[in-house]
Amino acid sequence: MMKITRYMRGSGRVLAFVFVASVVWLLLDMVVLRMSMNDESSQLLKERVIREREISKQQSLVTQLVRQGFKHPVQREDFGVTRAVKGPLGPSNKVAHVYRQGGQKQDKNSLLHRGDRRTKTDKPKYDPVEHKGGAAVQKVTPKQDGPSKKKAVNLDLNGMKLEKSRVKDGSNKETVPEVLPGVHENKHAPLQTSVKLQKGKNEKNETKVKAGTEVSLLEAGKAHPVKTTKSPKMGIEVKDVVGKTEEKHDLKAAKETPKPTIKLQAGDSKDNSLTAVRKPGVHKVLSLDLTDAPRDANAVGQFGQAALVASHEDAEVKKRWGEGHFNVFLSDKIPVDRAVPDTRPEMCAQNLVHDDLPSTSVIFCFVDEVWSTLLRSVHSVLNRSPPHLLKEIILVDDFSTKDNLKEQLDKYMSKFPKVRIVRLKERQGLIRARLAGAAVAKGEVLTFLDSHVECNVGWLEPLLERVYLDRRKVPCPVIEVISDKDMSYMLVDNFQRGIFKWPLVFGWSALPEEHIKKNNMTVSDPIRCPVMAGGLFSIDKKYFYELGAYDPGLDVWGGENMEISFKIWMCGGEIEIIPCSRVGHIFRGENPYKFPKDRQKTVERNLARVAEVWLDEYKDLFYGHGYQHLLNKKTVNIGNLTDQIELRKKLKCKSFKWYLDNVYPDMKAPLVKAEGLVFNRGLRKCLALQNGSLSFDKCDLSRKSQHFNYTWMRHVRQQDLCVAPHGKGSGFALQVCDNAKSEHRWFHKSSNSALAEHLIAEFVSNHMCLEAGPQGDTLHLNPCETRNAFQKWQFTHYYTL
Ligand code: UDP
Ligand code: MN
Repeated sequence: MMKITRYMRGSGRVLAFVFVASVVWLLLDMVVLRMSMNDESSQLLKERVIREREISKQQSLVTQLVRQGFKHPVQREDFGVTRAVKGPLGPSNKVAHVYRQGGQKQDKNSLLHRGDRRTKTDKPKYDPVEHKGGAAVQKVTPKQDGPSKKKAVNLDLNGMKLEKSRVKDGSNKETVPEVLPGVHENKHAPLQTSVKLQKGKNEKNETKVKAGTEVSLLEAGKAHPVKTTKSPKMGIEVKDVVGKTEEKHDLKAAKETPKPTIKLQAGDSKDNSLTAVRKPGVHKVLSLDLTDAPRDANAVGQFGQAALVASHEDAEVKKRWGEGHFNVFLSDKIPVDRAVPDTRPEMCAQNLVHDDLPSTSVIFCFVDEVWSTLLRSVHSVLNRSPPHLLKEIILVDDFSTKDNLKEQLDKYMSKFPKVRIVRLKERQGLIRARLAGAAVAKGEVLTFLDSHVECNVGWLEPLLERVYLDRRKVPCPVIEVISDKDMSYMLVDNFQRGIFKWPLVFGWSALPEEHIKKNNMTVSDPIRCPVMAGGLFSIDKKYFYELGAYDPGLDVWGGENMEISFKIWMCGGEIEIIPCSRVGHIFRGENPYKFPKDRQKTVERNLARVAEVWLDEYKDLFYGHGYQHLLNKKTVNIGNLTDQIELRKKLKCKSFKWYLDNVYPDMKAPLVKAEGLVFNRGLRKCLALQNGSLSFDKCDLSRKSQHFNYTWMRHVRQQDLCVAPHGKGSGFALQVCDNAKSEHRWFHKSSNSALAEHLIAEFVSNHMCLEAGPQGDTLHLNPCETRNAFQKWQFTHYYTL
């Protein structure tokens, strides 16, 4: 027992000694370690933090952009929006002051500043006359040649149900009452003269129409003045009626509109079934604005004014916000057919358009849309579209869950024969919902709109006119802003076009000023647009299908605007913004519906599909801007692209380089980040690839063996060979580049810090840098040292920094 105790005591002493010794050893070690932590290693640490921050910043930027709903970034601080109507109006405010932008050329200041677009000379459409209790009260006051002098115009011969403001006479003929609230004076088709109307191809029918009297516009394609001529080239009969009647049209008023010459739709010549024939009759754009009469001037939000919420209603506003991610409470108070200010440039109302424009099917896809905004969207189309051009409105319900969007909607819409509802049996997403709408559409042109818009006066004809002039034109209205907070209608800056930035992020940008000057552009001229915002556009139906419609492999939402934009431009079409066509849209911070899968992943995957099919060699720019992870086939499946690639071949579409050079030349898209010689500072020699291995040589720009690229994939490469570590050691070899392999990637110039000139291996977690041996015969991967000149590399040209 004693022995054991003694032994324990003895071994306890030993243990105590070992313990004390290790503590001392540890302390000593720490001191040594501390001493060895010189400036350099703290630099490295800093560098590493910077690098990691850099990656995560890029990632979060992408995430943020995707989350923001990048299709409509007008809520950005720097985006110019101006209230069309300042609200609430004080007694001294004149709505007229803010109604519209003058038709004159844009001056420099108004391009640069927002809110400068009011013109004092603008003519009022409505005069605010009275204010009660702070709320705006407006009366619609007739102009000098007011409605009482105006003759009724019946534009509704296409089966459209009567609005309440219309009356039926005993003969069951639909007419419009003499005083037609909401119809803008003097804006109807100035068919002042006698015209010949053709009913069918051979069947002619002569009708006299006197100036200012009731005019019936027959169904599109039927009521056209015709004159027969032969088109020598195409050997087809072209008919039109020019001569007397034509000359009397008010052509002076619209210097920019096409002269009444014969315009065949592009592509008609190929179609033998079309013996016809575009006829040259023209009329002033119809500025219809029907509404339930009488229009309640006192209504909340009337005339696009900001609506006020009393402070005790704040809680209710908050409560209902989530239903649509905008002020749903207010929206429900605003009339579903409210008036909005006519924000078109002044000259737009004078423009002439052809009498025989194609008809359109307006397609609204929606999922859990707010009742009042959906209705307002539909009414704005019914009330402000020439009935003979509006074939139908198709509402595609993308499997909404809200009860009121089922029977209640059916019942409400049954009052409007032109409205059809298509119900999808499962959630398809915006893209496939649009395809479903297009599949049943009967109009010649498809017009896609979001389900929370308000189409402005005269919005439709300018769009259809462009399609008429060339079926490969894809016109978009100017998208104005309906405030998500106060529901006011705001106009946006002129000369805005849709663009994208890497990695395929949609944005708006003003046309360069020199471009405007050089082309002597006015505010109403169509604007060529590299990318459309996506929500609102018209397209010839046949052409849409010729282009293969949308890639049906795109899911839910996002990227489809890029896809269709690239496809249109690269396969022979054009995208334009038409300033004379304006549609307000509620921009909201968040989507009010659920994404079946993760939102970000859905959008990324859609974009990757677009990049793979359309971007050619430029797809590296997409992946290189924070989307490298999409290249990992093990974790990301972007689906089968065979059909899309085939389609592109079949359509003989041009290259993405052609698109950049011709459509978006101001876009910077260098194919590599840097290129040329790779100079090593320590060795003062250049990297060379000789006989399949790397070496150093006297720098010589004329030697191809010394030319390397530093790519968006962060590869240091020559042809398809990448500088990569060899095996597990520190040696180097060339390997066939593989985008999925992180060992082929090097950080270089990724920050301005101490390691900017180094080539830092991405695949190792601690800092390892590419280093030239002092004799110039070796290449190693060594721990990074900020001051080691043998680790510093310089390319001849840098394109991004
Ligand atoms: N939409 C749809 N199914 C979806 C997602 C969207 O039908 O899965 C509809 C939506 O209701 C809206 C249009 O597509 O009418 C465009 O969507 P959203 O307004 O959210 O896009 P944003 O304007 O934010 O780009
Ligand atoms: Mn929208």
